[in-house]
Formats: sequence, C-alpha cells, structure tokens
Amino acid sequence: MSPETRDVCIVGAGPAGLTAGIFTARAGLDTLVLDGGDPILERNAHLENVPGFPAGVNARRFLELTREQAERNDCQIRSGTVEHIQQAASGRFEMDCVNTEGEDERLVADYVICTSWADTGYLDGIEGVGMTTRGSKTYIDVDERGRTGVEGLYAAGRIAERHHQTVVVAGDGARVALEVIDDSEVPFYHDWVAPEGYFTDRGREVPPGCEEITDEERKRREQEARDAMQEHFADPHPEEPTQHPSVREE
Ligand SMILES: Cc1cc2nc3c(=O)[nH]c(=O)nc-3n(C[C@H](O)[C@H](O)[C@H](O)COP(=O)(O)OP(=O)(O)OC[C@H]3O[C@@H](n4cnc5c(N)ncnc54)[C@H](O)[C@@H]3O)c2cc1C
Repeated sequence: MSPETRDVCIVGAGPAGLTAGIFTARAGLDTLVLDGGDPILERNAHLENVPGFPAGVNARRFLELTREQAERNDCQIRSGTVEHIQQAASGRFEMDCVNTEGEDERLVADYVICTSWADTGYLDGIEGVGMTTRGSKTYIDVDERGRTGVEGLYAAGRIAERHHQTVVVAGDGARVALEVIDDSEVPFYHDWVAPEGYFTDRGREVPPGCEEITDEERKRREQEARDAMQEHFADPHPEEPTQHPSVREE
C-alpha cells in the first residue's frame, strides 16, 4: 500500500502549527497537522494578551477555536507523534509516525513545517538542519523566511526561537506558511475577502487567493460566525489548566 501523501505536513498543533495550517489549507495546499498532545498553552490560567479578546480568553477555549478554524478551512488535524523524518531522492519528506493506538504510520509530504516545541529529535536523520542549544532547550535554526538549511523544510514558533507569546508564534506560523505558499506552485496573492465590486468595479480581475462576496453572503457568514462564537462561549470551559510536570509529580 502506498503511503499517505500530502502537500504540507505540519508537526505540532499549538498556535504556530494551527495558524500555519489555516493559511496553507486556505491556499489550497492539502495540509495535515500532526500533534503529540499537550500544547504548552494548555498550562495558561487566563490568556490576556491576544488581540480581539478585550477581557482575555480561556486558553483551552482559544486552542479549540483555532483548531476549529483550521478544520473549517479544510486543514486536517490528527493525533500522532512524528518519530523520524528523512528526505527521499525526489526531495520529498518521508515521515515515520506513531498514532494514538501505538501503530506505525508513514506519511510523505512535499513541505514540512516544524512547530514542535520542544522536540527536535525526529530531525536527527536529516543532514543540513542547524540547531542551537541554550541551557536545556534546543531550537531549529531558520533564515528570515523560516527556511532551515534543507529545501522544503521550515520551522516556526517557539521551536524557531520566536518570543514565547501566543500571538508572536501564531503570527510566525502564518508568516512561514505564506513563504511555503510562495515557494510552491500555488498562484497566491493576499488571502483577502473583499466586498463585491472591490476589484471588479475597477475593471480588475479578482486576484488569486482573494474573494469578492455579495452583501447577502457577507451577512450569512457573519451569522455563521456569531452562532459559532455563541456556542463556544455559552458555558465556562470544563477543563482546568495543565500544571507543570514537576508540580504534578509533587
Ligand atoms: C504557564 C504558561 C502560561 C503562559 N501564558 C501565556 C500568556 O498569557 N500569553 C502568551 O502569549 N503566551 C503564554 N504562554 C506561552 C505560549 O503558551 C507559548 O509561547 C506558545 O503556546 C508556543 O506555541 P508553539 O505553537 O510554538 O508551541 P506549542 O504550543 O508548545 O505546540 C507545540 C506542539 O507540538 C507538538 N509536538 C512536539 N513534538 C512533536 C512530534 N515529534 N510529533 C508531533 N507533535 C509534536 C506538541 O505535542 C505540542 O502540541 C504561556 C506558557 C505557559 C507554560
């Protein structure tokens, strides 16, 4: 049986990986996010510095909203741990993973975005990926576009030594995803939704990656968004923050 093949595989479903997935999937790239569980933001007690939430937001709720947003945009998210990645002669990446049932899986991807704070061990089999260790933490070296030393392999978020803040790593995920889109064959301009006539009433084509929507469609989308948010915020989130492992052991 031939292995599952994707345009983009993202390692890690924290804010960086999920945001990267929203962008690559919206650009039409077949995207899978694989996640080993316990994104570090689940430890937060109340998230107060993400724009758009004037009184803050429950961090577990924020992650759920971001996951749902990725899925609504056709980004697939699956639990599983990436154990090893190697690059085939074709340039594609072969990824060995273990799923939640403990079974081995192989995936093949044209592009990989590592957002796997704080794991880099699965990259040991690829030559040319620079790493920097500071104290007990190892970071993946990237250039200003999020590229590692290996073509097609990118890193974003805290694992790329970005500031340890949700909005910064989410923005970095978006930024690196846009670089992947730029490096791929997808004709991509801005990811914009504009009112009807914004481009066409000026005699311009709607650029690739943009959309013009009617007022009726705008109202439909706004209603859908309000319904989704009301459902998410109807009740307090049922889960407590996760404690630091060393506190849990005490
Ligand atoms: C107690 C606490 C409070 C915080 N409070 C705030 C705050 O108020 N405001 C703020 O802005 N930031 C806060 N932060 C920081 C914020 O949570 C992080 O900066 C941010 O979540 C990092 O996002 P990331 O996507 O880079 O990594 P993560 O969110 O850690 O996601 C990485 C994901 O990669 C997965 N992964 C790792 N290795 C593999 C592998 N081999 N295969 C598959 N998946 C893998 C992990 O399972 C994890 O889910 C807080 C952090 C902590 C610990």
